[in-house]
Amino acid sequence: MQEFFEQGARIGVLTAQPLDRLLDYRAPEGGCFLGAYVEVPLGPRKVLGVVWGPGEGQFDAAKLRSVIRVLDAAPMRAEMRAFLEKAGAYTLTPMPAMLRLATRAPGLGDGPSMRKVYRRGEGEPERMTDARRRVIAASEELGGLALTLGELAEAAGVTSSVVKGLVKSGAIREEESPRDTAFPALDPDYGGKDLTEDQAAAADVLRDGQRAGTYGTVLLKGVTGSGKTEVYLEAVAECLRQGRQALVLLPEIALSAEFLARVEARFGARPAEWHSGVTMTERRRVWRMVGEGRAQMVVGARSALFLPFQRLGLIVVDEEHDTSYKQEDGVLYNARDMAVLRASILGAQVVLASATPSLESWANADAGKYRRLVLTSRFGEAVLPEMRTIDMRRQEVPSNRWISPALAAAVNARMERGEQALLFLNRRGYAPVTLCRACGQQIGCDHCDARMVEHRFLKRLVCHQCGETKPMPEVCPSCGAEDKLAAVGPGVERLAEEAQAQFPEARIAVLSSDLYGTARELKAQIEGIAAGGADIIIGTQLVAKGHNFPLLTLVGVIDADLGLQGSDLRAAERTFQLMRQVAGRAGRAEKRGEALLQTYQPEHPVIRSILAGDEEAFWSAEADERRLGGMPPFGRLAGIILSGPDVQEVFDLGNWLARNDGALRRVGAQVFGPAPAPIARVRGRHRVRLLVRAEKGVALQGALADWVRPVKLKGDLRLAIDIDPQSFF
Ligand code: ADP
Ligand code: ZN
Repeated sequence: MQEFFEQGARIGVLTAQPLDRLLDYRAPEGGCFLGAYVEVPLGPRKVLGVVWGPGEGQFDAAKLRSVIRVLDAAPMRAEMRAFLEKAGAYTLTPMPAMLRLATRAPGLGDGPSMRKVYRRGEGEPERMTDARRRVIAASEELGGLALTLGELAEAAGVTSSVVKGLVKSGAIREEESPRDTAFPALDPDYGGKDLTEDQAAAADVLRDGQRAGTYGTVLLKGVTGSGKTEVYLEAVAECLRQGRQALVLLPEIALSAEFLARVEARFGARPAEWHSGVTMTERRRVWRMVGEGRAQMVVGARSALFLPFQRLGLIVVDEEHDTSYKQEDGVLYNARDMAVLRASILGAQVVLASATPSLESWANADAGKYRRLVLTSRFGEAVLPEMRTIDMRRQEVPSNRWISPALAAAVNARMERGEQALLFLNRRGYAPVTLCRACGQQIGCDHCDARMVEHRFLKRLVCHQCGETKPMPEVCPSCGAEDKLAAVGPGVERLAEEAQAQFPEARIAVLSSDLYGTARELKAQIEGIAAGGADIIIGTQLVAKGHNFPLLTLVGVIDADLGLQGSDLRAAERTFQLMRQVAGRAGRAEKRGEALLQTYQPEHPVIRSILAGDEEAFWSAEADERRLGGMPPFGRLAGIILSGPDVQEVFDLGNWLARNDGALRRVGAQVFGPAPAPIARVRGRHRVRLLVRAEKGVALQGALADWVRPVKLKGDLRLAIDIDPQSFF
């Protein structure tokens, strides 16, 4: 394809505006490259776009307008354009929405902005004071580093006016420097650890993959603490040696502080960060530096996959089974699958790391599509905890209490030895249900078919679907009765209350995402606990994710049956993963851990396979069941979610789609529904689902596109297609 367009040439520009085609323009003065970021006129507005190819030629040449200007950013690479096109085709997302994902940097249209920096100059001050001496010493000590006024003043422990005074005499030089600075270089040979035998073997395979410089995906499986991170950091090191960039995706922001410290210890400097907690200025810097190849490594959330890497050589997806990789809003994509797609276009390597891989990845490894590397033992002396059930049918537990006598005894035994216990309950808030004992009504959300959850810490009722909150009412909203509202069922806050009553001497810490204003507070709390600042930890699934508590030796799962209810295809898989991960929190250091699962159905096959710890058997059985049903990953699914303010209109559209399914039948796909979605109303919108199932090899996207093409959405009606749906809410 043509790479450069001379001034006046007809070009096709993709914009982020919701239009279904490219727009034709003339190349500006000086011409422009294919992939260039440009500003173009659209009606009275100026919008951002990317030069996508030659113009189509249908538009009247006389009316063709010219590109306003080419932006100061490296042109989008061919590989990135191909990735956006393929990802868009896979997820049935229009290209403008894909472009929005790839241009999530503020100030893209700005020129290179400058800021003032200060370094040591030639001159000497007329009069030397103690404060002035400290400034000069600091600027000399920090060598070539260009510091801002505030940074230099802080380093010297003086006010900024002292620095300004030195600028006048020439002792300190004030210079203009571009605001977006390169990230410090990472040294692949800075702080490597001596690897154990199976770690070293795995690292060798990954390094070979980096040297080959071709596409490949590796499933790196190993129990928590087996050193997966150490191993994939060796792949990062080799990637850097090859002069390519590395991307590490993590599921949770709260984790990244701990992770960044490890990267710094390994490579001597911090990588770039990309997630919702990063400031706008820093986002802009990361986006640009990644594009110029001046950020070697990015640690980020799923959207980092759409950064404009110059020479990406490795994508690590840590905790690859984590559901947060699936974007459930807007563009519905799974970052794990998109990582594989991007790498295959680039000739890069993917490492999917997990203690409990998703069934999809397990099946891909089984089929030989991914290479499987297994770390069998934990690093050091640590061994997996002993797992047992507590049969709740045989325990005497008073009403409104959830800690069985057997579990309480185990907690006491651990505390006597100065060890920590974790009580795990995957329910935020105080109680999941608030009921009026006079009229029997449960308090629900006004906008959703969901119950409001009492959060005593916040003193409010919260809807976990839409986030709506309201003060805890004094009287029943339905019948007006006073003092009749009762909390039903446990949340972590209520469990903490019970634990405090049961173990009055214990120091209790609650870890739940809603109890911390900032990631920093949460991190401080986690560090405090790790250092022994609590005897009992009460936590939601937040604790299941990779934190290290060396003193923790007992995990008590309050309700192991919780995830098994409901009809979700992945209920068994999720429960298995969550229980194994939570149990993995116990006994990471030299002390042997123990995990106790409170259950009313100890003979349930999932509970039994969790105890047996025979993962291969679990995955095989689960895989067989899905294979029989033609379910993913052995068949294909797509979810269609229709929503709108008027329930009848939504159903009419659903029925119309179900009746006019010719395009689907032509490829042998079946459509189920319409049916009210499990949560039939969210934020005041009625939701109806259809499910489409097809054989594995079928070109499903094309058929789906043909099927929905005739639909003209009236008013506020919406239709979303979810390829490979993860959840069915
Ligand atoms: P995973 O990612 O599988 O949970 P990590 O890589 O986090 O495992 O390793 C668990 C702990 O053991 C970490 O503190 C890590 O630094 C340490 N560790 C693992 N392997 C080694 C090694 N070969 N030498 C020194 N420390 C190691
Ligand atoms: Zn709600």
